Amino acid sequence: MDRRKVLSTGAVTGLAALAGCASGTPSSAAPGSSRTVFNVAAPMLPIVGTSDMFPVRRIYCIGRNYAAHAREMGSDPNRELPFFFQKPSDAIQFVAIGTTADHPYPPLTKNYHYEIELVAALGKGGKNVPVDQALSLVYGYTIGLDMTRRDLQRAMGDEKKPWEIGKSFDRSAPMGPLHRVADVGHFTQGAIALKVNGVTKQSADLNMMTWSVAEQISKLSQAFELMPGDLIYSGTPENVGPVVPGDVMQGSITGLPTLDVRVV
Ligand code: MN
Repeated sequence: MDRRKVLSTGAVTGLAALAGCASGTPSSAAPGSSRTVFNVAAPMLPIVGTSDMFPVRRIYCIGRNYAAHAREMGSDPNRELPFFFQKPSDAIQFVAIGTTADHPYPPLTKNYHYEIELVAALGKGGKNVPVDQALSLVYGYTIGLDMTRRDLQRAMGDEKKPWEIGKSFDRSAPMGPLHRVADVGHFTQGAIALKVNGVTKQSADLNMMTWSVAEQISKLSQAFELMPGDLIYSGTPENVGPVVPGDVMQGSITGLPTLDVRVV
């Protein structure tokens, strides 16, 4: 079979159809357009007080951002440079206000930890954003859990391997709906707490963050171009700990509704 003959066969035109540029071949795609072969859900959060949705692009998380938590993780409590990791945006488990969401205990771990955190949501992007302009990027806030397979995180860290399996797994980001800055202002201080089965486990003040939300945005924007839709988990206070199936967690931040999650 010569080259010209090969080019005229169905195999080649089939490939062209897949690429959305079929010519002379029946196709559901309009000339010059592409069709999506299946749909992937776009992660979104409801915006309180509106019928609008906030589309989520990326989830950044800062590590060890409260001194007492840095100490319990075995780190120098001095102001180490901030470091960040990501969770996939589809790790969000949305928890509606006034409901208790069932959260499946994930596979592979025997030491599943809560970390309660303030989450900032960006409505604007930027690169190399100065600290004194950083909060102007924030569209709103919510309360979130940075659920962590601590045994896997530690094991990978000990081997100098990436943290993903400990931090970035399915449903590892339970969170509530977004509250607009226009409605709730910025959160630079105020109580942050987590109860398990009614017993307080974590209790601190947002003003104890090593790096403020504004500083986090500024630092992140030096490493990544921030975009509208990005979320930032701002770190957890000390006294992280394990949960097991049947436990009910209640996260709270002064000025926001509670986040209620049952491990199942
Ligand atoms: Mn965290």
